[in-house]
Order: sequence, then C-alpha cells, then structure tokens
Amino acid sequence: PENSLDSETLITERKAFLGKSLSLSYNDPLKIVRGDGAYLIDDKGRKYLDMVNNVAHVGHEHPQVVKAGKKQMEMLNTNSRYLHDNILQFAKKLLATFPKELSVVHFVNSGSEANELAIRMAKSHTGQKDFIAVEVGYHGNTNACIDISSYKFDGKGGKGAPEHTQIVPLPDSFRGKYRGDNTGPDYADHIREAINVIHSKNRKPAAFICESIISCGGQIELPENYLNLAYKYTREAGGVCIADEVQVGCGRIGNHFWGFQEHQVIPDIVTIGKPLGNGHPLAAVVCTREIATTFANGIEYFNTFGGNPVSCAIGKKVLEVIEEEKLQENALDNGNYLKEQLKILQSKFPVIGDVRGKGLFLGFELNDIDKNPLPHAADLLVNCMKDRGILMSTDGPDNNVLKLKPPIVITRNQIDYFIHHLRIVLQSGDMNVNI
Ligand code: PMP
Repeated sequence: PENSLDSETLITERKAFLGKSLSLSYNDPLKIVRGDGAYLIDDKGRKYLDMVNNVAHVGHEHPQVVKAGKKQMEMLNTNSRYLHDNILQFAKKLLATFPKELSVVHFVNSGSEANELAIRMAKSHTGQKDFIAVEVGYHGNTNACIDISSYKFDGKGGKGAPEHTQIVPLPDSFRGKYRGDNTGPDYADHIREAINVIHSKNRKPAAFICESIISCGGQIELPENYLNLAYKYTREAGGVCIADEVQVGCGRIGNHFWGFQEHQVIPDIVTIGKPLGNGHPLAAVVCTREIATTFANGIEYFNTFGGNPVSCAIGKKVLEVIEEEKLQENALDNGNYLKEQLKILQSKFPVIGDVRGKGLFLGFELNDIDKNPLPHAADLLVNCMKDRGILMSTDGPDNNVLKLKPPIVITRNQIDYFIHHLRIVLQSGDMNVNI
C-alpha cells in the first residue's frame, strides 16, 4: 500500500538517501499523511491543529483549489509560450490587489525564485549590484538570495556578509538595538549608513529588501516610519525597494491584502510565494512597468514551469476562495482575538515577554525577567503542544519566539482550543522556568 512505511524506517531511509542538511520537525518526528482545513492528520489517524503553516493559506487540501488543479491537469499543462486564458485571468486578478503603480507580473515557482528574479531586476534597472538587507532576514535558497540572507550567512555554517551586501540591524523595538516607541527613524538611519558604506566604495545601492513583518527574525513588526524612511533614503541614492511578501502576503495580516500597505509605502518590486498556490509551487514577482521595461533588455526571460495553466488555475482559485470565504476578514477578526487571548496569558505568565504581529501573523517570545531569551523553554513548549495535538514552531535570532501563522480559515473554536492547551502547558511544572 501507498505511504505505509513506519517512522523508524523512514528516518533510516532519509539518512541513507537524502541530503544531510535537510531537517525534521520535533524530537519525535511526525508522519503526516493527510491535510484538512486547519488540521494535519498523522499515520495513526491523530488530528493536529496546524498553528504554523502559512503555505496552506486557505486550508490544507481546500476542495475547490484541488478541483481547479485537477481539472486543468486533465486538460493541459505546458509552458507560457502558447496562448492561454489562465495566465491572464490569474495575472489580472492578482494585479487587481495592488496599487496601480505595480502593474506587471512575472510568474515563477518558489519564493527563492521570486527574490532571485527581483534581484536581477534591481540590478538591470539600476546598473548596480549592492544590496541592503535586514539582519536575520531570509529571502531564499539560491546563491543570490543566500547572499542577502543574514539568517543563513550569519548563522551556523555561514561565512558572514558578502562584499556587495550591507546588513542593517533587525528593527526589533522590544529587544533590539533601539527599544520602545518611535524607533523607526533610528533604525532607518542605518540604511543611510549602509548607503554611505556603499558610496565609500564608489558604488551605489541596487536595492533595499525587507519583509513587511519580519518572519525568521522572530515575527517582528516594523516600527512606524521605518519603511517610508528606508524607501526614501534608498530611492534618493538611486536604489529600488523590494517588499518580500512571501510570508505575510495574500490577506494574512487582515487590515490589508499586502503587508507593505500597512506602512503607506509603494515598493518598486514585490515578491510573493508560499500562500499563492496553497501548497502548489507557485510564486510571483510584481513590479512597476518601468522596471519590467528595463529588465526586458533583449534577453528572453524563460521559465519552464512559471505561469503554466495548472499553476495559474490554482492561483486564481486561491484568490477567489480568499474573496468568497471572506478569509482576509477572518484573518483580521480571529487574528485580533488570538492576539487578545495571548495578551491575557502574557499578563498571567511573565515568561511571555512580548506578544506581537498583525492578523494571523503573530508571535510571542519567552524571556526571563531581564529579557534574556529562553530558547529551551520555547522548544519544550513546542514539543508539549505537539503532544497535545497542536503544531507550532520557534524562530528569531535566539530561537525563543513562538510563531503563529495558521491557515487563515482557522475558527474561533479552534483558537479557544489552542489557548486552552497553551494555558495548561504554561501552568505545568515543566514550563515553570526561573523568572
Ligand atoms: N522569503 C521569505 C521571507 C521566506 O520566508 C522564504 C521561505 N521561508 C523565502 C523567501 C523563500 O521561499 P521558498 O522556500 O519558496 O523558495
């Protein structure tokens, strides 16, 4: 029978046949065999509430999305060099969610590919190759993406920033370099400094790239005025501004469809990934007509799978489902509710140092009384919650931030269930860390 090997055999075979740098979640890894809405189901039939998968945006195996993909797969799948309605229907629907300045789309297959293309566009548009990126940022697994991902090159096994990358501090107003209110201008000043360093090498910046809420950095909300000042300084120096919406986009933050809209800025290039295909490998780069025009310098941009009729049918259906099921509204309402509930827990359990985020892109961190991070407590919490049938994960430079980014179909009842178990775990002896 299909998919019937036990976990032990699978772990042994992974070690034998797959790359060593792949990882598994949890001390005792799960074998997941099925998805359903906000749930994942393991090989023993146990249901887990998925609090962390922002790829299964409209719910795991959403019937309508599956149907749209299946229907088109039965008919045709080929590259975008043939005329087809799907690519244009999807393009128009996607572009309708953007301000009018962002009017051209290229379809690709992953967030990494999207950022890779954004990097090429920034280089061709400006004639420059220096990038400014944020500390602990992650933008993808390709060479050029790794070169701007301090999460990787400053992490385990990394070799530090390449010559053409300037890293600015993580704008974390809770535990970062500047704390409290109104830190935006202080953090943004580091973009000016980075530009000065680039100028001192007789070069100019190609681009500043930043997520609208910083995910791998630990669900960090950008302080007020950070993005608009960062964009202003970058543009004054001739660079373009890239918003990486791979994690936060497509209605997840509730108030807006795109994270950058929260900051009243308009990027020059936006990269979109994870949620767009609801699990199907689908991503996109949306940019201004000006940038798209300079990028088309005579070299054809060909992408074997990007924009194929199956992917486009799926992407279009995802956007329709968000609209029809009012999922952005759900992200706002239930996201606000979840955040409120977390704040109530924070007032009872001082180990929760901070609760932050927007809509259904939230995080809370575990600290001692001096704000020292508690990564072991965070890890313990994740494993205890897993035993209770709830999936979560940690991140941030100190691995003490619990990330909450469930499928945006999550219901009030499911949130209550999550909070109920979180409270029990926080009360339990195991979590009674010295604070
Ligand atoms: N940008 C961000 C912010 C991401 O979080 C990720 C993936 N974690 C990527 C880009 C890369 O996307 P992918 O894994 O689809 O290549």
